[in-house]
Amino acid sequence: ARDPAAVSASTVNTTPSASRAYSSGSKKVTLIPGDGIGPEISAAVQKIFAAASVPIEWEAVDVTPVRGPDGKFGIPQAAIDSVNTNKIGLKGPLMTPVGKGHRSLNLALRKEFNLYANVRPCRSLEGYKTLYDDVDVVTIRENTEGEYSGIEHEIVDGVVQSIKLITEEASKRVAEYAFQYAKNNNRKRRMSDGLFLRCFEERYLDTVCLNMVQNPGKYDVLVMPNLYGDILSDMCAGLVGGLGLTPSGNMGLNGALFESVHGTAPDIAGKDLANPTALLLSAVMMLRHMELNSYADKIERAAFETIKESKYLTGDLGGRAKCSEFTNEICAKL
Ligand code: NAD
Repeated sequence: ARDPAAVSASTVNTTPSASRAYSSGSKKVTLIPGDGIGPEISAAVQKIFAAASVPIEWEAVDVTPVRGPDGKFGIPQAAIDSVNTNKIGLKGPLMTPVGKGHRSLNLALRKEFNLYANVRPCRSLEGYKTLYDDVDVVTIRENTEGEYSGIEHEIVDGVVQSIKLITEEASKRVAEYAFQYAKNNNRKRRMSDGLFLRCFEERYLDTVCLNMVQNPGKYDVLVMPNLYGDILSDMCAGLVGGLGLTPSGNMGLNGALFESVHGTAPDIAGKDLANPTALLLSAVMMLRHMELNSYADKIERAAFETIKESKYLTGDLGGRAKCSEFTNEICAKL
């Protein structure tokens, strides 16, 4: 059994090395509320942070693409400047346009700020019953290339080619980050680094998936290329109660953006039904990255207690509470 303090710390230290990009003097945080349920869950996080008197100032920015001087659509300069100045941000989910001829805004943000490692902790919650109670795995996903490189073209009518780009530089960079993360967080360093660096083979990924659903306690930290990390971490989320619970951090050389793993949930958007926990825990990761640990601990404790009590669970966790009721309950426990 793991020491609970160490487990709790497992989602903590996202700083790759002693040289942190974030200046602890500045307490301004860029907020990208996002689409769909994004504004509702962002408002919930802001409410909880205010109730906990977290000493940060939100700087909300709009990332709706605007046409630049070259005629191409891109992220508004004000949003870019905000992240570059604050070096830290919280982001709600953004809708990915399908077949609209321009790139996903999520990809554009990762590229703009060179957010090369996506850290996705996933852990069983005490008091919330799932198939296993010992899941505690961190997926560290290469965030800039693989199938998400956006190199796609129609060769002839009806035949589309999509390039999967893997470079030694990006692979090494994320592997080094992951080893450092494991060291900083006292993880056991059981990683698929060999698989990743020596070219990922399908059977190995199969084995990881099989083991993960049969014996998830076997895994501690996984390093994965972009697409595999995306898929596998969603599977891990399913093992602990779903996408409403899993946070993430996008780590770059000059800053970090924290966001939930889930998307815009268009089916429940605007209905006060969303579970804000995933974005809240992403914000908790962010606080730890900013070394505001006491606030992070306080908020995390209140959220976990609310889930454990199970009086105010949202629909995705089998309850009937509204997002606002769940949020108020967390505030009351602070
Ligand atoms: P999704 O994660 O939005 O939703 C999948 C299912 O999970 C839905 O049934 C939804 O209701 C539920 N769900 C997700 N988050 C929830 C929450 N917080 N509380 C309760 N239920 C929740 O996935 P999708 O439907 O495949 O994607 C919708 C849009 O989001 C797409 O445009 C996709 O590209 C985008 N997306 C964005 C991000 C991001 O911004 N990082 C990530 C994933 C998907």
